Amino acid sequence: MFVEVALPLPLPRTFTYAVPPELRAQARAGARVLVPFGQRERIGWIDRVVETAAKPERAKPVTAVLDATPSATLPILKLCRWIADYYLAPLGQVLRTALPAGLTDSSTDFVTLARDPGEAALSEFEAKLVAFLREREGLQPVARVRRVLGERAWWPVIRRLEQEGIVRVETEGPRVEPPVRTRRVVRIARELPTLLSREEAFGRAKRQRELYETLESIGGSADTAHVTTGLGFGSELIRQLVKKELLAVDEEIIPRDPYAAIAATAAPRLNPTPAQAGVIDALVAATRTSAPGTFLLRGVTGSGKTLVYIELLREVVDRQGKTAIVLVPEIALTPQTVGRFKAVFGDRVAVLHSALSDGERYDEWRSLRSGEKRIVVGARSAVFAPMERVGAIIVDEEHEGSYKQGEAPRYHAREVAVVRARMEGAVCLLGSATPALESWANAQAGKYNLLELPERVGGQPLPPIKIVDLKKERERIRKSTGPLQEVAPVVVSDVLAAAVRDRIAKGEQTILLLNRRGYATFVQCRECGLVWHCPQCNVSLTYHRKRHRLTCHYCLHEEEAPRHCPSCGEDDLSFKGVGTEQVERAVEEAFPSARIARMDVDTTGAKWAHHDILGRVERGEVDLLLGTQMIAKGLDFPNVTLVGVINADVGINLPDFRATERTFQLLTQVAGRAGRGVKGGEVFIQTALPNHYAILSATDHDFVGFAEKEFETRREPAYPPFSRLLNVVVSGTEENATQAAAVEAADWVSGLLTGRKVKGVALVGPAPCPIDRIRGRWRWHFILRSDSPKTLGEVARYFYEKYRLPSNSKADLRLALDRDPVAL
Ligand code: ADP
Ligand code: ZN
Repeated sequence: MFVEVALPLPLPRTFTYAVPPELRAQARAGARVLVPFGQRERIGWIDRVVETAAKPERAKPVTAVLDATPSATLPILKLCRWIADYYLAPLGQVLRTALPAGLTDSSTDFVTLARDPGEAALSEFEAKLVAFLREREGLQPVARVRRVLGERAWWPVIRRLEQEGIVRVETEGPRVEPPVRTRRVVRIARELPTLLSREEAFGRAKRQRELYETLESIGGSADTAHVTTGLGFGSELIRQLVKKELLAVDEEIIPRDPYAAIAATAAPRLNPTPAQAGVIDALVAATRTSAPGTFLLRGVTGSGKTLVYIELLREVVDRQGKTAIVLVPEIALTPQTVGRFKAVFGDRVAVLHSALSDGERYDEWRSLRSGEKRIVVGARSAVFAPMERVGAIIVDEEHEGSYKQGEAPRYHAREVAVVRARMEGAVCLLGSATPALESWANAQAGKYNLLELPERVGGQPLPPIKIVDLKKERERIRKSTGPLQEVAPVVVSDVLAAAVRDRIAKGEQTILLLNRRGYATFVQCRECGLVWHCPQCNVSLTYHRKRHRLTCHYCLHEEEAPRHCPSCGEDDLSFKGVGTEQVERAVEEAFPSARIARMDVDTTGAKWAHHDILGRVERGEVDLLLGTQMIAKGLDFPNVTLVGVINADVGINLPDFRATERTFQLLTQVAGRAGRGVKGGEVFIQTALPNHYAILSATDHDFVGFAEKEFETRREPAYPPFSRLLNVVVSGTEENATQAAAVEAADWVSGLLTGRKVKGVALVGPAPCPIDRIRGRWRWHFILRSDSPKTLGEVARYFYEKYRLPSNSKADLRLALDRDPVAL
């Protein structure tokens, strides 16, 4: 008996191993095995059990089978095989992506001493392991043992001692609970309302008074660490004020996972509107058939798509006793979204998101595997949730680019959801206000069933959208200041500012979007024109004002911001391209009384920061929320009556065929945050391209019109959805070698196409990538384009299996294949 083993290595094949008689009962497809590979042992999965091998004498034996029940269920294994085949990735890498991290690094295997062998003869390693276990009580993670014993010897040693009855191994050990984490918070314990009491309390202790008043100005309390290291007050100072009972220090528990704390309080059950009921009926009817198919739900922002999802889940999970998967973009995975599902389905909901530790993720995975939890709400990789009897897979905001994984395997979770649903006889529901044009084309062609919710719930109108022409605005300012004055970029135009002021006065909230972070997106010398670039990447550096540093948004390179030009010595530097940090400064100056929160990558670095910010918005503690695309999705705040887009043109001119589509989607989504409550709302879009069809269509809430115009631009030359693409990227540390390799690879493909007389596949390139250097690696690419996914797949497969880059250890050449790329 032999097995084909998939190893998580970048090689396009599986490996054959022999199965010793004592392991035959456990050796099943989908089970993890430990196998010798090169100089060490590796964990892989059994892809297939086979009777014969091509070269049986060369097959080494499997060392151990690690799963009592296969960790990859058959449906998951089948799905992973499809992904490996379609997206041209090694099956082992796909399985590693699909299953919780703990399973491949064996952190979920545990070992303990079952019987003390006393003085029995043991090898050096065995004795070391026994001594290690003797000193500790209970189950020890194998990962820890592995560190003690070293890389090569661990599993065989454990397995031999297990056979002797000396140790016991538990593949599924205890729940891995990280210890509770706490933080110390200092807060004002006694208010000092009058100047007199202040003088009495502090006398001449100036620093004490400064500390006290700083705390007052930031809301009365703060992390002790922030007060000492961030604000520079000594801990002695805090102690003195605690002694005077003016301040107090408390210990607070940091919630391990705020989703766990979301109360499953029953929300009042909403009755579907007639429009929702029609959509729900169609979906429910489909789930009762053997091939339910794929549905595209195009529902405008605020049309109540979530209630449709919930009613579908009720049918599938409550009435049919099946399970369901809900995918949402990571950014939209807010307590608000999760709370809606938890309110209805309580503890049966598992949440999978990127901030979980490996242990937490494994806990959730297991509760889904065992059937304890029956619904998963999660980001991209939740499409691999290990449940059985899946009745529905829902993909919310299906147009989101983040459903595509940026590294191998480069799968698109929406497409995988469609395939998985078909394989398992589940209904697949794709929802969006602005469907991806691929999905829209599929609906037009009748491949997907189209469902529509064209109006907001309760007859709320979509907010009126007004265009502010930035060119005219600048002209106007130039006229009033005279031609010699340099005109600063318009951050908030007068009309938008007036609207913001009006909301602040009324106690309503405003959202301002700018899809570009930092203060200025590039720095240029006015004298000689030099622009500061990243030394690793071919992109300009962004200026961050508060830290006075330049950073690269691709590789995180940082350097001190310049004061003069290194090339010509002048100190006349200009900081151009407005980013969110600059908007924040501008609105702080323009609206000094407003409570402002900024949400972008720079302010949400801490684990739960973006939940904190949204919590403050929800509680009405923020008047003005500004940020990048992070604030455009999924938020449902009825008190937001104004949305302003600072500059709609950011991104529209990127060298990518989807740039316009993305702009339209972003504008529509962010506009959709306004006027969701009874107070109504309005939207201002600032743009220098007031006649661009993406902006005009967004202004008219006209998705269908936009799609028609955009389709026109994609027909000739054909871009998706009128063709399928494979992007082949060659990268390396040396410019010439990288270019030469890309040319050679493209020639190879070109030879293949002509040699085999392949029809209908075009080769475009090679050429440098739009950003031709990232993290010190040069990047070249070429594209294969075809209207036949089948032919393209065959050519791609042949190339993937047969072609190898010339070896050039100096240039460290690498090849990446991206099928159906979301960005070129
Ligand atoms: P979408 O996801 O389509 O933008 P949501 O699902 O967030 O819209 O719904 C918008 C708002 O309408 C939410 O506040 C939701 O609670 C409310 N809502 C949805 N359906 C109904 C209904 N049938 N009756 C009353 N309110 C509803
Ligand atoms: Zn860089």
